Amino acid sequence: MNKNIRIVALCLAASMMISLAACRPQGQETTATSETTTEATTTTSAAASETTKESETSATSDDNGLPLKGCKIEFKPEDQRYHYDMDLKLDTSRKTIGGHVVFDFYNDSAADWDKLCLRDYPSLYKNPKNVGYDAGVKTHGEITEITNITDGRNNGKIEMTRDEDVSVVWLPLATALKPGEKMTLSYDFVATIPTVADRYGYQDGVYNVTNFYPILAEYTADGWSHAGFYSVGECFYSEISDYDVRLTVPEDMVVLSTGLENGENKRSDSKTITIHADCVRDFVFSCSQDFEVVEGDYKDTHIRVAYTEEDYPEYYGKTAEVYLKASIDSLRIFGEAFGEYPYKDLEVIIAPIAAGGMEYPNLIIITKDSYAAEEDEESQDQIIQLEADNVVSHEIGHQWFMGIVGSNSGMQPWLDESFASYTEYVYDVGVYPDKSDNERLPITFKDDSSDEEWKANMTESGYIPINRPYYDFDNQFVYITAVYSMGKDLLIDMEKAVGREDFYAIIREYVQENAFRNADQSDFFRVLYKYAGTDNKELNSLTFKYLDDKGQAPAA
Ligand SMILES: [Zn+2]
Repeated sequence: MNKNIRIVALCLAASMMISLAACRPQGQETTATSETTTEATTTTSAAASETTKESETSATSDDNGLPLKGCKIEFKPEDQRYHYDMDLKLDTSRKTIGGHVVFDFYNDSAADWDKLCLRDYPSLYKNPKNVGYDAGVKTHGEITEITNITDGRNNGKIEMTRDEDVSVVWLPLATALKPGEKMTLSYDFVATIPTVADRYGYQDGVYNVTNFYPILAEYTADGWSHAGFYSVGECFYSEISDYDVRLTVPEDMVVLSTGLENGENKRSDSKTITIHADCVRDFVFSCSQDFEVVEGDYKDTHIRVAYTEEDYPEYYGKTAEVYLKASIDSLRIFGEAFGEYPYKDLEVIIAPIAAGGMEYPNLIIITKDSYAAEEDEESQDQIIQLEADNVVSHEIGHQWFMGIVGSNSGMQPWLDESFASYTEYVYDVGVYPDKSDNERLPITFKDDSSDEEWKANMTESGYIPINRPYYDFDNQFVYITAVYSMGKDLLIDMEKAVGREDFYAIIREYVQENAFRNADQSDFFRVLYKYAGTDNKELNSLTFKYLDDKGQAPAA
């Protein structure tokens, strides 16, 4: 998810070309000597070469076992993936999505499972308070109906219960599922799609159908994870699965989804699309009868950008073209830095949603900014490019940090949001190599010590630790500033401490080690210190300032 860009974009829309340099943190005023070097070398930065030991331990060559630039990211073996088989129908008259699900999985933990936990997020829309709305929601949802829940091992029916948090659904098992044991769970469901401009909702002819079916929660060392839902933050946390979906929609609906369409069966007023997705954490789709689509390719990946024209066909058409280019650039730059995007499709939806953008496997949603359509052409172009460079790149960055490397987005939000925010910078360096560091976004607020909310969250070091669970931040402002802005700063400053190419190589190794599993922050720190060394004073001082547990770093 991306929130901060709204502030930036609105500033530009009002022709308030604020001085970005004035907002930059002090730590970034020093421009690395190799800042504008476009071609990678294995040379370490000045900071990282403080000691000879660091240059030995933070090498980027394959001699040291670090993956090379642009390396491939292999899918998890098929027998380790779960599998959802879904027959779905979008009912546009009732605004519901529902169908039959057959879910094959196994107990991937060392504990017996005497119950399962499903997450049912659409039920939260029954009460707008749950999802953070207090006005403007035209219709609220109903609690999702989940019926015919069956344990395939004995064809026994399962009686579900819900927590007070209605998104938490418990399925007691008559016979516990043993470690390694397989099971087929089947159920029917019908969920209401609220009429609201959101990542899950219907607005202006566009359906964003995400986090919509009851999905198995993640089992952790503390049991089933069922963190609370946040309208600004995230709580989504699931296992890598394959999906076979047959989706029935009105005949003239243009559908973009996770995975690849591999067939279509048309009837007089409806059609059923067959979709297969390999090795993803979720299945989502967006659709509209009014979607226009522009398309392009990067290597083996086909990219589609969908938008509705409304009253400004030229403006939205231009926006889609710029977003397509930013998508291709993102796949190229991130593929080289972190390992090649392993999927054959990427969908970019331009639609009205509350946040600046939202990420899902193979599909991102970028908010539709109708305010900009009435600006003069020069302002329009600036706004479109700014959103492409920051929101589109951020959400595509999530394909690596959320999609490929999963994490607990409620308990350790920095592992996906700080990293996705850092990818905005990586993109900026890749697309605009000649910019000076002072010309680069982001704007950060970490030195705004006059703010009372900020002060209340600060530690003695004068920073807000970013690696906290969502609920440990006092409010959305502090959460966004810490996890997005400061998290981005931390990773940029780590890059400067270690050296750009070395840091990319370390992240590549982190991605390779954790691809298609759920990582913990200790997985990142282990790789970081293994290859950057434990005696990099600059690095240690960063972790000391920014991280609650000092990033498990050695004493500074
Ligand atoms: Zn994000």
